[in-house]
Amino acid sequence: MNKGVKHKYDLLVVGSGLYGAISAYLAKKEGQRVLVIEKRGHIGGNLYCKNINGINVHIYGAHIFHTSNKKIWEFVNSLADFNGFINSPMALYKGKLYNLPFNMNTFYELWGVKTPQEAENKLKEQRAEMADYLKSQGIVEPRNLEEQALLLAGKDIYEILVKGYTEKQWGMDAKQLPPFIIKRLPFRLTFDNNYFNDTYQGIPIGGYNKFIERLLEGIEVRCNVDYIAEKDTYCDISDKILYTGKIDEYYNYIFGTLEYRSLQFEHNILKCKNYQGNAVVNYTDADIPFTRIIEHKHFEQSCDYIYDPANHSDTTVITKEYPVKWEEGMEPYYPVNNEKNNNLYKKYAELAATEKNVKFGGRLGEYKYYDMNMIVEKLIKY
Ligand code: FAD
Repeated sequence: MNKGVKHKYDLLVVGSGLYGAISAYLAKKEGQRVLVIEKRGHIGGNLYCKNINGINVHIYGAHIFHTSNKKIWEFVNSLADFNGFINSPMALYKGKLYNLPFNMNTFYELWGVKTPQEAENKLKEQRAEMADYLKSQGIVEPRNLEEQALLLAGKDIYEILVKGYTEKQWGMDAKQLPPFIIKRLPFRLTFDNNYFNDTYQGIPIGGYNKFIERLLEGIEVRCNVDYIAEKDTYCDISDKILYTGKIDEYYNYIFGTLEYRSLQFEHNILKCKNYQGNAVVNYTDADIPFTRIIEHKHFEQSCDYIYDPANHSDTTVITKEYPVKWEEGMEPYYPVNNEKNNNLYKKYAELAATEKNVKFGGRLGEYKYYDMNMIVEKLIKY
């Protein structure tokens, strides 16, 4: 960046995901001249939805906004009205459905228990069996995820609802995974299928695109522009840069490549009003290669067609989600925050701290998993 040169923009935001879009919105509000560039053909990053037959399809994975912070909820609702969608996923294992998160409905489905006391007794019995078994093998501290989950949940919950799903997610045997991945498993002794514990929860009415469009209203946005490929044009266009792409890519991988888990999505339009009766169904069998099926219309549409036949389409869109090993060129979804990658990230972060005019933010810039509410909380001042 040339000192003393009058730039056309005060701020260049690289990436139009939630982090970039909120940052651009706030900078514009302060009176800054902002330019956003985005390497994809659309704005919104992973929140982007594609409208198919009137259904907003979460192309990069299902996104449900949730927070217990009233200020955050008020901020997002000042930009778009959020509906009251409540995430209540189901799990399917060997042809049988179970409610999630683990609650009285799940315990009834697993063991036929009807009262909290019966459920608690059963959980205690299952955990004690596993603790005795591991002790008999000379294992005092859990050495891997399997042992950790067996101690926390017992054999039935682990085998039916945890093992297959987790192994597919990580692409590894649960015995090879470190125990800290599952620090705790929450159990509810109530008949409550609400996945999140947060006070506020929902999806923007009309989809996430509307929400992002509101954030970027009046701001110049250029899509299909990759900062790395067009650095010569963009590195000196503004006083400051906010970079929300991959930090290791920005530095041309000088210290090495940070690793991610990736996902593949198989979207299908079905001639069917209502495929699975729920937005999210997890497939916990190890031999079914996908982890879940999302049926997008349930995020925003009523499927009470028996009572309300006019109010929904005859087609539906479902997405099968396959976790895959990430390779260069694939979409990076989840940072793998193990010791090796965290140490590598530290080197990049130290280099980034020496930059005067470039800041890094968001899940790729900070190599950190962020839920959407965490990004809002970090960026808005209240
Ligand atoms: P991104 O959305 O990735 O945005 C970064 C943008 O920068 C992208 O558009 C990218 O194309 C662009 N970019 C990168 N490099 C360049 C470059 N060189 N030049 C130009 N542009 C560039 N959170 C929740 O709160 N609730 C959920 O239910 C939820 N579900 C999720 C499901 C999945 C499968 C995943 C992976 C995440 C989920 N999240 C959820 C988290 C949520 O997706 C993130 O909080 C959010 O997307 C992070 O926004 P971001 O701006 O940091 O990153």
